[in-house]
Amino acid sequence: MEKRLSGQKALVTGANSGIGAAVAQRLAAEGADVVINWLFNEDATREVAEKINKAGGGKAIGIKADVSNEEQVDAMFKQMFKEFGTIDILVNNAGIEIHNLLENMSKAEWDKVIGVNLTGNFLCSRAAVRQFLKNENRPHSRSRGKIVNISSVHQVIMWAGFSSYCATKAGINLFAQSVAQEYAEKKIRINSVAPGAIKTPINQNVWSDPKGMADLMTKMPYGRMGEVEDVAAAVAFLSSDEADYITGTTLYVDGGMCLYPEFRFGG
Ligand code: NAP
Repeated sequence: MEKRLSGQKALVTGANSGIGAAVAQRLAAEGADVVINWLFNEDATREVAEKINKAGGGKAIGIKADVSNEEQVDAMFKQMFKEFGTIDILVNNAGIEIHNLLENMSKAEWDKVIGVNLTGNFLCSRAAVRQFLKNENRPHSRSRGKIVNISSVHQVIMWAGFSSYCATKAGINLFAQSVAQEYAEKKIRINSVAPGAIKTPINQNVWSDPKGMADLMTKMPYGRMGEVEDVAAAVAFLSSDEADYITGTTLYVDGGMCLYPEFRFGG
């Protein structure tokens, strides 16, 4: 595999599972040393780190932190800088969804989703940007630092029962674009990848049920669920110098989910 990220230091939040694990493996395969952030599942973290360290690309370490907690996020970055010296790439991937209709949604449920998906993005982005601004003469990258957010097609597609999730993903979009505007002149790039339906534990209830899959395929012009590697490839591209002139945008990795699939059969 091409080593577009050799010598770079990356942190991927929520990287012991699903999309985050694939992203961490891809960035390491392209030469980056990677922090695998996790919260609950230490065994899964160890497995992902072992795979990366055996593969012979960049090396991996796990760091536990709840991305919605300011002290824990700051401590995680401090530990990363102690181990790796700095950060070149932040991937804000950790995310959760809680199903509920508005009339039944508790404030605790709302706060939880906003806390992990949106406040977590803010806290990690702030910590990364503070360090990017200190990055001088990074020989392996044309920019001082890159952030890639794992957003969702639900930054633009409304989703009944998941209004809190949609609010966070739409929020990430304009937050990311605003900070991309703030830091472009400092040579810091901030972009998002918006996956459609990617086969991971988060949506196991859909892909493990034939009826759920049949329904999903009606929303999927490309005719298959996405794989985690589809998303990882997009993140690696946006993190690399090949995307050096790209900032403040969203790359949809969704098999055409945003293409108004109902209209395939006429309007
Ligand atoms: P997943 O397999 O459930 O993984 C979620 C990850 O987030 C886990 O590593 C989990 O770590 C971590 N996490 C949860 N709460 C955390 C917290 N407070 N602090 C730190 N880490 C935390 O989900 P996924 O499908 O890969 O989703 C990853 C991202 O992609 C999410 O932002 C999701 O919204 C987005 N996305 C997914 C899809 C899809 O179809 N799968 C589509 C669009 C967008 P622990 O297990 O250690 O808690």
